[in-house]
Amino acid sequence: MSASQLSPITTPAKPIYHRFSDIFDAGFRVDWGVASFLVVSHILVLLLTPLAYMYAPAGLWQVMLSWTLIHAFIGALSTTVYSHRLIAHGAAKDVRLPTHIVFLGMQIFAVQGSVRRWSAQHVIHHAVDKTGQHHLDPYSATWFSTSWRNFLWSHMLTYLFDHPYSREFDAALKAKAHPAIVWQDKHYVLLLIVANFVLPIGLGFGLAGWLGGLCMLMASSAGFVLAQHNTWTVNSVTHMWGFKKGLISSAQNNYLWLGPLGEGNHHADHHDYPRDFRNGFGWSGWVLDPTRYAILALRALGLVQGLKRASRWQEAQIIARRKVRDTKAKSPSVIWQQWEEKLATLGEEWLAAAKAWDQFKLEKKRLTHQIRQAGADSMAAARERMGGTQDDLMQDLRARRESLRADMQQARKRLKAGREEFFNALWELKQATMAVA
Ligand SMILES: [Zn+2]
Ligand SMILES: [Zn+2]
Repeated sequence: MSASQLSPITTPAKPIYHRFSDIFDAGFRVDWGVASFLVVSHILVLLLTPLAYMYAPAGLWQVMLSWTLIHAFIGALSTTVYSHRLIAHGAAKDVRLPTHIVFLGMQIFAVQGSVRRWSAQHVIHHAVDKTGQHHLDPYSATWFSTSWRNFLWSHMLTYLFDHPYSREFDAALKAKAHPAIVWQDKHYVLLLIVANFVLPIGLGFGLAGWLGGLCMLMASSAGFVLAQHNTWTVNSVTHMWGFKKGLISSAQNNYLWLGPLGEGNHHADHHDYPRDFRNGFGWSGWVLDPTRYAILALRALGLVQGLKRASRWQEAQIIARRKVRDTKAKSPSVIWQQWEEKLATLGEEWLAAAKAWDQFKLEKKRLTHQIRQAGADSMAAARERMGGTQDDLMQDLRARRESLRADMQQARKRLKAGREEFFNALWELKQATMAVA
């Protein structure tokens, strides 16, 4: 790991606006259609939901509550699994047509714009990490110089405005060209009205007349308002407060916030490696990530294939960089100068061990594939010869797999040792810093 690899990839974003009104000079305009819809639906949900429960026809409150909860869950799940990980980030090489159809249908209940627009905006949100064009971030939590403005803007205010045209957004939109996604985008408003209003009102009317219809309208509105805020916390909360800061964005981990089904738990690792289908690296990536479990279930059902994830080398590099950055910030420069080289060397050894591990894993995958292939071939040959013997090739492959297993055990030990030594050095450095202080 060279000295340049120790430093963060980009410089943190600086505020570009002071007051909200500054954005009008940059070409933002109020989107009256969306703004009225959001404001009116929020006011109605706040004011009328308690009344709807108070005056609901007998027995309907259970239906209303179930609808709201299921509605919010469907909206949240389709946003995290589909709009976010599968479509915006392409976390699977192959997404089957039934998956597209089911999730495009579910996503209508999220009321967060079509999948096409949602994912294009999110692509830009991540792209600014690399391009440094922070003014293009559709829901930046760093544009303003005060936290409360950043919170309000990234959480909700951004959606009330028509953003200035950008070639980048246009290209991101055109890149999401799957016919089913384009179809949903084209018919989005109609689909939204049917799913979120006609369907629940119709059900309520069928169950308990017009009052029932009105009550179910409130249940549905509460469902999508919950789904909206659930997603928006990812853009506001996880970009402003948390425990583990990312390398290339303001994103942080928020282990406590499970609402967005894993997205609140991953933002630091996620912004550092967005294509990953998981919320984070190592064991912590398994904890509190319902979206990961859902994607694994889809793979088990054959509905998605070729899931992408960071290699051990990529993970190690990101973790090492973060650790070095945080330690450097906390260490007095006299001490840091003594330790910088040692840390770089240990980091390099750890990365080399991780790379070796990755290569072994790749080889194992190749070998397993060959064995499966040879097995199928020899079965076919045996059937033809009526009782033919096991191929030599098969035995050879199996022997190679055995020796690979032993090599992999060694590689795993080296990887663990490399990581441990790097972390031990960090620990010693911390002790030395404390002794000086
Ligand atoms: Zn983000
Ligand atoms: Zn993302």
